[in-house]
Amino acid sequence: MIPMLGEEEAQAAADAVRSGWVAQGPRVAEFERRFAAAVGAEHGVAVSSCTTALHLALVLLEVGPGDEVIVPSLSFIATANAVRYVGATPVFADVDLATGNVTVETVDAVRTPRTRAVIAVHQGGVPFDVVALRGAAASWGVALVEDAACAAGSTAYGQPVGSGAAIAAWSFHPRKLITTGEGGMVTVDGADQATRLKRLREHGMNVSAADRHASAQPILEAYLETGYNYRMTDIQAAVGLVQLDRLAGIIAQRRALAARYQEMLAGLDGAIPVRDPAYGETNYQSFWVLLTPEFGASRDEVLAELAGQGVSARRGIMAAHLEPAYEDVAPPALPVTERLTRDSLILPLHHALTEGDQEHIVGVLRKLAGR
Ligand SMILES: *Cc1c(COP(=O)(O)O)cnc(C)c1O
Repeated sequence: MIPMLGEEEAQAAADAVRSGWVAQGPRVAEFERRFAAAVGAEHGVAVSSCTTALHLALVLLEVGPGDEVIVPSLSFIATANAVRYVGATPVFADVDLATGNVTVETVDAVRTPRTRAVIAVHQGGVPFDVVALRGAAASWGVALVEDAACAAGSTAYGQPVGSGAAIAAWSFHPRKLITTGEGGMVTVDGADQATRLKRLREHGMNVSAADRHASAQPILEAYLETGYNYRMTDIQAAVGLVQLDRLAGIIAQRRALAARYQEMLAGLDGAIPVRDPAYGETNYQSFWVLLTPEFGASRDEVLAELAGQGVSARRGIMAAHLEPAYEDVAPPALPVTERLTRDSLILPLHHALTEGDQEHIVGVLRKLAGR
């Protein structure tokens, strides 16, 4: 990802600095309102990253030691790490080959009486089946946290993925579609939950520093529980507000570039590009291609050849259970996860990518496939 940052973002950051209000303040509040509205959510609580957003979501749900939380192994490692931050046990579920996402079946297969929550990821922007999974979680009496780090602007059943999510976590890291440098958001449907999240991100204080500062009367704050310092700054939110205005255009361009890749790859046996699922649209945060045995070259051979031709493609999405940090977890049976992480690669997709670049990249694949 090459972030699309322009003069407007630089100006907005400079304005925030000149205003003298650089920590969490009015720009954060406006960014929360506008981002929540853009993703179809009721309330937004801005935080320092999606990792801290996931942590706070689990704190809010009072998940802790003795609880199991089902997560996909096929995800950035922060998804599983958040479970450990609250002392709970991550349990890995396999994913669907086409979407890279957990399903009702793969979650149900590893569910136990100790399952307190599921963190389902809209992987690489591809929405999971929200109707099926939200419904199943409700029927099981298990909380569903949506890791929407990559999914700003993705839709499911005609709605943005934040719509109808009880609780979702978002990222504004520069690898994502819109960025604030570092940053994240929790969106929730309940006003009381939003209030508690705002307290948790700010040391457990019952009034925010911004409110205290704005009041003419002295306000004596109280610390109601052990909180964290997970705040976003007004400098970041100023950049985020400009980025938010770009989101629709960024997605339209990514979808056009993805469609062109799909057309170019259509005649190539054994190279299966990611697509929209039947029930929704991806924002193409990640454009991955799964190689099958018919392709005739391994994923690593393809990556090496692309690198040799000056193309920086990346390996497919990682699998947490294969990393040293999780080697103490009994090796779960995750055949689809292992196949996707071993046999897929992510092709370059950014705003400066030309049709010629795409032809060059697909040409390398064609040559390797012997066509
Ligand atoms: C990027 C990412 C995260 C972490 O986001 P940060 O804002 O960098 O903490 C979490 N989950 C998924 C699925 C991601 O892609």
